[in-house]
Amino acid sequence: MSWAKRVVAPYRVEDGDKFRLKDFNPGDTGHIRSKPHAHKLLEQGIVSMAELQDKLYAQDRWGVLLIFQAMDAAGKDGAIKHVMSGVNPQGCQVYSFKVPSSEELDHDFMWRTSTRLPERGRIGIFNRSYYEEVLVVRVHPEVLKGERVPPSLITKDIWKERFEDIKAFERYLARQGIVIRKFFLNLSKKEQKRRFLARLDDPQKNWKFSAADIHERASWEAYMEAYEDMIVHTATKSAPWYVVPADNKWFTRVVVAAAIVDTLENLQVAYPEVSPQKRRELKAARRLL
Ligand code: AMP
Ligand code: MG
Repeated sequence: MSWAKRVVAPYRVEDGDKFRLKDFNPGDTGHIRSKPHAHKLLEQGIVSMAELQDKLYAQDRWGVLLIFQAMDAAGKDGAIKHVMSGVNPQGCQVYSFKVPSSEELDHDFMWRTSTRLPERGRIGIFNRSYYEEVLVVRVHPEVLKGERVPPSLITKDIWKERFEDIKAFERYLARQGIVIRKFFLNLSKKEQKRRFLARLDDPQKNWKFSAADIHERASWEAYMEAYEDMIVHTATKSAPWYVVPADNKWFTRVVVAAAIVDTLENLQVAYPEVSPQKRRELKAARRLL
């Protein structure tokens, strides 16, 4: 087993039936005992990722979609920044999804994310995603009311239906060669408080704090139930969730990097083979130089 597979195995959920959030400890650091060890592994992961991404890009067949979901201050932005620091920007596309605009609300909920799916050969990152449609929209019924879905279609089955639609959409993408990996950064309520206080105390972190974050924190338990139900219903073999311990950023980043490396390794990406025709062209080119 590769180091990457070994690191991520405990956090990978590909069958939601028995998934319970309480079985996952946000403070877990696996077999990694020290920060320096974690930094070394992260560096190693970043080097592997860069090599694999180059092949993914050259081969131009598979696309990879990485989805990040979490409570505020769980470290999504930092994980994206650090983990992707070694990849070629040309092969990578990052999109953040905020409160939908009125144009976006005028469409079905998959519309805005569909237009930003990664091309073949690329790694696409969604910082939040269509999963908000079963998280914030579920926790705050008034948000659902603000969507322009015909009232007769809003029934008690709406969340089950959304899970089914998301699963169907992801199955379609998997069959198209767009490989989906989903990350839930699992932060404890206590650590979130600590990070919020740091944002209030440190002038350089003040910008990260939004009053709305406190409001969402008040719905913590409802969010945890929504996250659990989401993973129960949408974890599949072809589009698994990783429930990543998020109370220690250095560990979060190692797990995310390992998950990406493991994914790319499994795709067996390779540089395209040189055909005899191409070989003749290369030979001719050399003579012309
Ligand atoms: P941030 O990522 O911290 O800048 O915040 C973005 C905000 O947009 C979060 O509070 C999300 O819950 C919210 N958001 C993202 N997608 C949706 C959506 N589909 N419906 C409603 N709110 C959303
Ligand atoms: Mg925020």
